[in-house]
Amino acid sequence: MKVFMVDSNMIRERMVQQLLRANTIIDDFVEAQIKQYNGPFEDVLKKNIIVAQQSGLPLCQDTGMVEFFVFTGHAVVFTEPVEKTLNDAVREAYTKYPFRYSVVKDPIFDRRNTLDNTPAIVHIFFNDKGTVQIRFLVKGGGSENLTRLFMLNPSSTTDEIVELVVNHIKESGAKGCPPLKIGIGVGGSADKAIVLSKLALTRNSNEHNEDDRYADLEKRILDSVNELKIGFQGLSVGITAYSVHIEHAPTHIANLPVAVSVDCYLCRKGVVDIEPERTENI
Ligand code: SF4
Repeated sequence: MKVFMVDSNMIRERMVQQLLRANTIIDDFVEAQIKQYNGPFEDVLKKNIIVAQQSGLPLCQDTGMVEFFVFTGHAVVFTEPVEKTLNDAVREAYTKYPFRYSVVKDPIFDRRNTLDNTPAIVHIFFNDKGTVQIRFLVKGGGSENLTRLFMLNPSSTTDEIVELVVNHIKESGAKGCPPLKIGIGVGGSADKAIVLSKLALTRNSNEHNEDDRYADLEKRILDSVNELKIGFQGLSVGITAYSVHIEHAPTHIANLPVAVSVDCYLCRKGVVDIEPERTENI
C-alpha cells in the first residue's frame, strides 16, 4: 500500500504563521468592505486595520478559540498526531505574539484560564486524496454565542428557512459585531448540522454554492438580512452581512436540521495546503 508522508513540524511552523496573519491582517474582501464604509467610527475601523498590520497587534482583543477543519487522505501519515500538532501551533502562536488567551479548563467547575489558548477544536474529515488541507477559524466568543440549531419540520419551505435565519439575526442586533458572515448547515444530524455551519464560515466571502438551488437560497437570505439595516457594528449604516454560505448533507426522513453560525466583521480565518514530502510503500 502506498502511503503519503507528511512532516508535522512543517505543519506546525506554517500554522503558527497563518495564526499570526489571521489575527493581524484581514483578507482583501473584508478590507474592501470596510474601506467602502462611510459612517460613525469609520476612522476607528479603518485605522484599526492599519495599526494591526503594521504593529503585529491583534485586530481585536478577543483573539478567539481556534477551530480547525482537517481534510486528509486516508493514506496520509503524519509524523505525530495532527491534533497535537495543531494544539502546539496554537500554543506557540498565542504565547509568542501578544494575543489574549481565551480558553478555560472546565466550562462549569474550573473556569481558570489554560494560559496558552489550547485546546483548540479539531474536526477531521477523511478523503481518498494524497494531500492535506487544514482550514481554520479564529472564533471570537461574541459571535460564537450566536450559534443556533433549529430542528424544523421536514415539510418546511425555503421561505420558512429564510425567515428563521433573518429573525435570528434581527434578534441578535449588534451582538457579534456586524457585518456578519453567516454560515448555515442544513441536514445531517443535529450535531453534524452545527459542524457544517462552522465549515461554511471557512468559505471565502465571494464564493457561492456549487448547487444553483443553494446559491439562490444563500442570495435570498443575504438580501433579506441586509434589509434589516442593522449595519456596521449595529449603527444602522452600511451592510449587515457580507455573505451567506450553506453546507448541506443527507438527513433522516423525519428531520430537517438547520444550524446557523456567524462570524464577526473581521472574518478571521485561514488555510494551509500540504503536499506530502514523499511516498512510501508499506
Ligand atoms: S465579535 Fe469579533 S470583533 Fe466583536 S469582540 Fe468578538 S472577536 Fe472582536
